[in-house]
Amino acid sequence: MKTEHSRELFIRAKKVIPGGVNSPVRACKSVGCDPLFVSSAKGCMVTDADGNSYIDFVGSWGPMILGHAHPDVLEAIAETAPLGTSFGAPTPLEVELAELVCDSVPSLEKVRFVNSGTEATMSAVRLARGFTGRNIVVKFDGCYHGHADSFLVKAGSGVITLGIPGSPGVPEGIVKNTLSIPYNNPEELEKTLRAKADDIACVIVEPVAGNMGVVVPDMKFLQTLRAVTAELGIVLIFDEVITGFRLALGGAQERFDILPDLTCLGKIIGGGLPVGAYGGKQEIMDQVAPDGPVYQAGTLSGNPLAMAAGLAMLKVVRKPGFYTELEEKSTWFAGELARIAAGADVPTVLNRIGSMMTCFFTDGPVTDFTSAMQANTERYGRHFRQMLAGGVWLAPSQFEAAFISAAHDRTHLEKMLTLTESSFKKMVV
Ligand SMILES: *Cc1c(COP(=O)(O)O)cnc(C)c1O
Repeated sequence: MKTEHSRELFIRAKKVIPGGVNSPVRACKSVGCDPLFVSSAKGCMVTDADGNSYIDFVGSWGPMILGHAHPDVLEAIAETAPLGTSFGAPTPLEVELAELVCDSVPSLEKVRFVNSGTEATMSAVRLARGFTGRNIVVKFDGCYHGHADSFLVKAGSGVITLGIPGSPGVPEGIVKNTLSIPYNNPEELEKTLRAKADDIACVIVEPVAGNMGVVVPDMKFLQTLRAVTAELGIVLIFDEVITGFRLALGGAQERFDILPDLTCLGKIIGGGLPVGAYGGKQEIMDQVAPDGPVYQAGTLSGNPLAMAAGLAMLKVVRKPGFYTELEEKSTWFAGELARIAAGADVPTVLNRIGSMMTCFFTDGPVTDFTSAMQANTERYGRHFRQMLAGGVWLAPSQFEAAFISAAHDRTHLEKMLTLTESSFKKMVV
């Protein structure tokens, strides 16, 4: 495999960009290789700067549920761009997208568009604090909600991958107002909420965790969370930045039939362009400026190109049968993967829901941060490198999800399975 162009680009990048990357996990440090620079992508294939092609299971970390460069999305962008790319004024496209998003996600009455998942979670928490007049945010160990200060306490994603316990630059006062407790533990949750009820503004949760690897919630955990927050007047925020438009059209809340007070969206909602959103009950959303006193703004929010891409994407996934087909394909694939894993010498655990999954190199069940941390990351690194050499692009970290898109067909998935089987065989246990 030739990698000279990627290598040259990485040398240049490291001189002018910290670590040579614009988001830490991309540097591939935890899997023991240098990053490949991507030149193009189409469907479920990505091509690097040296012309090598790979079957992609990263999907830009979630957004590409239609695959890369989907013709409808490209056409929407191409039609919109000549009309001007930013006005700083309301546009018809953002109204249309807001209507479709509110119609798709069960708990949304009103929605505000921002430019990233981080902006969405950060704004939702400010709103919850403004609405309740309380300060404490409760989150769960290993969940990731973007890189805003309050969320970096025991966070998932790159924070786990790089083994950073918290982050310098986050003031003590902010850490003091963030409580992080174990995922999937209804008793601990109820105890924490009741003990500090008068000071807790909100609980923010990934309704399926995707950033310590995929961890599926126990229904009792989510039901307790909904019931106790409602009883104590605590705002429940579902961070559906990954699960929104992924696990169902209406996200995890539709799939589990549990409605939060506020929802954060990102990734898929922009069809591959930078869009985030937060929304929920009208009573809470009406506190946002200019209707209410909670300030939040954005020069490029509701950007017409991004809205056009999001609209095109949403129109495709709203077609009848889209999620049924994705579910059937993912179920078949996960079944085959589980069969291969069961026959291998190396112990693995496959966590999967819908089209998102993680194969952990461990032998116990993975239900929370502590059990996820038992995974053998050195083995994952070896698996990652073997898969890459065979033409499959996995996330460069054990603690991330693999995503199946509408563009993966049987041939791609079978090739991935065959390679996985041989990669597991090459592992010296
Ligand atoms: C990716 C992610 C975010 C942050 O979104 P960005 O667009 O990267 O800022 C927040 N929450 C969850 C659950 C995510 O997976």
